[in-house]
Amino acid sequence: MQAEIIAVGTEILLGQITNTNSTYIAQGLAELGIDSYYQTVVGDNPKRLTAAIEIAAQRNDLVILSGGLGPTKDDLTKQTVAQYLNVSLIEEPTAMQKITAFFDQSQQVMTANNRLQALYPAGATPLVNHNGLAVGAFYQSPDSADFLLLPGPPRELTMMFDTEAKPKLQAVYGHQAQIYSRVLRFFGISESELATRLQPLIATQAAVTIAPYAKANEVTLRLSAQADTQTAAKQLIDATETQIKVAAGDYLYGYGDDNSLAQVVVQRLIDCRLSITAAESLTAGMFQSTIGSVPGVSAIFPGGFVTYANAVKHQLVNVPQAVIDHDGVVSEATAKAMASGAQQQLQTDVALSFTGSAGPDPLEGQPAGTVWIGLAYRDKAPIARLYHFAGDRQRIRERSVLAGLDLLRR
Ligand code: ATP
Ligand code: MG
Repeated sequence: MQAEIIAVGTEILLGQITNTNSTYIAQGLAELGIDSYYQTVVGDNPKRLTAAIEIAAQRNDLVILSGGLGPTKDDLTKQTVAQYLNVSLIEEPTAMQKITAFFDQSQQVMTANNRLQALYPAGATPLVNHNGLAVGAFYQSPDSADFLLLPGPPRELTMMFDTEAKPKLQAVYGHQAQIYSRVLRFFGISESELATRLQPLIATQAAVTIAPYAKANEVTLRLSAQADTQTAAKQLIDATETQIKVAAGDYLYGYGDDNSLAQVVVQRLIDCRLSITAAESLTAGMFQSTIGSVPGVSAIFPGGFVTYANAVKHQLVNVPQAVIDHDGVVSEATAKAMASGAQQQLQTDVALSFTGSAGPDPLEGQPAGTVWIGLAYRDKAPIARLYHFAGDRQRIRERSVLAGLDLLRR
């Protein structure tokens, strides 16, 4: 069972709108266990649309079209599909009533072309549009591919797909393999290192696809499995995840597409009721701004310090002048003193500190990218770690913040 989505609309080709419809439908197909090897985008042009339909119908069991069901001249999807199938368009009475009622109620004059919205290919099952006027259609063909026609506006499409189309697809093509997927997020390991560690697993694991993607500051793995039921597919994923954890569990920090390192770490602090503050030199508040973006952080974050100048490190978080004179600001001793000083000032469970050289010029003879991050936790002796980050000033500061979050996670 194989389906192709054709998104119809010149504005998609021109880049004026994003093709969210195809994404939405594709996710639905995956849930239904219907394979999809191609997606097409074609403009509002009957000749090219016909060509796209011919190709799609040849290589698939089901062709899903989005857009072009409306009343205007550029809406040609139904006409083109009907012509391809060699059937006429007929009127759906309930949809027609809805269209007439809409125009009566809004006291607008209904032009004749609005009737087009109630038409669907003869022999198809019309699909109700709960959020609009244009009727959809599901056409089962004995000798060609089946067709599913959906409206373009996303509000209309998602509703019709979920409530009208999906149950029919499930009923007609049911008992397909079910797909289950999961995204694993890693920090502190490169894509190539992760791929190397997982190579034996990737090579032997046929039932689960393991796909690594490098993102800006992290690597994600998308695991997907096919099985007869969702439960069976999920079990395959669970087993693979267990093996992945053995190989690279240290770097795994979270799941899903939307959970950033900051969200995961801050949520854990909230859950454990651990309050936090920070004294930031080179990051100048960036760490605090980052954790501040997570909802609910106010429960554990009373505030903190931006301590750029040496005098302010002393003034706000009591870094002894002697430490700065003796060790310099880019030093383990200063990082520790900043962290414990900040912790004492606000009486938090945890405090982080950031001090280093963001560049472009060296600081105290230390090259750009040399960063000490300090961590004070309850009454334990503070610790500090040395990092060497590559990149420009902004990147070094961003990486410092992420390394600070990662340090908290461990
Ligand atoms: P209408 O009755 O509004 O004319 P329609 O079914 O004829 O609907 P189109 O005319 O193709 O659909 O598109 C209407 C609007 O829906 C577009 O202007 C665009 O905003 C949105 N749209 C269309 N196709 C897509 C798509 N693939 N992804 C996201 N949005 C889309
Ligand atoms: Mg239209």
